[in-house]
Amino acid sequence: MTVRHTQSDEDQVAGTGPRDTMGRPLRDLRISVLDRCNFRCPYCMPETQYHADYQFLKRQELLSHEEIQRIAAVAVGLGVTKLRLTGGEPLLDKTIPDLIARLSKLSGVDDFALTTNGSLLAPIAQTLADAGLQRVTISLDSLDEETFRRMSGNRGDVTKVLQGIEAAAEAGLTPIKINVVVQRGVNDHQILDLLAHFRGSGHIVRLIEFMDVGNRNGWRLDQVVPSRELYQQIQERWPLRAIGRSYHGEVANRYGYLDGQGEIGFISSITEPFCGACNRARLSADGVLYTCLFATTGTSLREPLRNGADDAELADILSRIWLQRADRYSELRKPDADEQPLLNKVEMYRMGG
Ligand code: SAM
Ligand code: SF4
Ligand code: SF4
Repeated sequence: MTVRHTQSDEDQVAGTGPRDTMGRPLRDLRISVLDRCNFRCPYCMPETQYHADYQFLKRQELLSHEEIQRIAAVAVGLGVTKLRLTGGEPLLDKTIPDLIARLSKLSGVDDFALTTNGSLLAPIAQTLADAGLQRVTISLDSLDEETFRRMSGNRGDVTKVLQGIEAAAEAGLTPIKINVVVQRGVNDHQILDLLAHFRGSGHIVRLIEFMDVGNRNGWRLDQVVPSRELYQQIQERWPLRAIGRSYHGEVANRYGYLDGQGEIGFISSITEPFCGACNRARLSADGVLYTCLFATTGTSLREPLRNGADDAELADILSRIWLQRADRYSELRKPDADEQPLLNKVEMYRMGG
């Protein structure tokens, strides 16, 4: 079911900026606005680890909006065309419209999105759109109240998320993508219900294999539902046809319903790794740049920034980081090995999902 890259994909990567050791350009910057979250999804921030006394980043450790703007502008100068605000939960930052307004002014960005758990979205969706945000991705693992509650660490209310989706659609933050992390025995039996709900809505549901991000979510291969298994189930109910990637480096394998009721995607980091086209970097809320979602280390851009580096110096640092990049974790991991190697991976909520 893998969609092969076409010549036109390759054409799209032609352009400026550094290439890493595998020839991949830097095109996509994901910016974690803050490390805090109002949910405790067990696959991301399990409550046992992120309890009331957990020390999140302090205010002075966080990048200011102005600092984020400077780093983003430098990244755009090196070829970045896609920006995504994420976290943690980015909408916990009540001043986020200011950051959006700053970033939306950068010329050269053709895709500007935000990923949210949707719980705080409804009242602010129009303000985000007015500030210049183009679209949102909303995480929603189940429509079943009890399952949703469990998968959000007893914090989430599915009605609020659905209201958020509706408000985002009204505000024109489209196309809306709905991220669903699928876990065996937890929500895998409810996927067809979720797809039925969104068929015909114009929103694109993306089914994500539970990933071994970080070290704290107790990941096990037997909790992963391979995309091909879901594909078979869905195909039996609603026949599908493959759609090509809309841009080089897109992580989802896209499919359309043959009856014209919209599109879905599969993100299959475990069973179909896609490092070859990976053009993404992540900036943590405290200004560390990571070149892979599974990285064990990153490079602080906050330090040089606060020590007075000018834009040319920042561009030089960023460029050197990218030129040395050799990451291809998903292709190298052996998910079915008896024991997973003990890597000190940085947590996903920290570097930005
Ligand atoms: N809080 C926001 C949210 O949940 O949308 C943004 C940050 S969250 C880290 C970004 C995305 O990562 C979410 O869609 C979430 O479901 C996904 N995610 C987190 N942990 C994951 C895991 N172990 N495997 C797969 N996806 C995961
Ligand atoms: Fe929070 Fe998003 Fe992680 Fe859930 S997935 S704990 S909402 S950061
Ligand atoms: Fe990119 Fe790292 Fe994921 Fe591979 S494992 S696709 S290099 S983020």
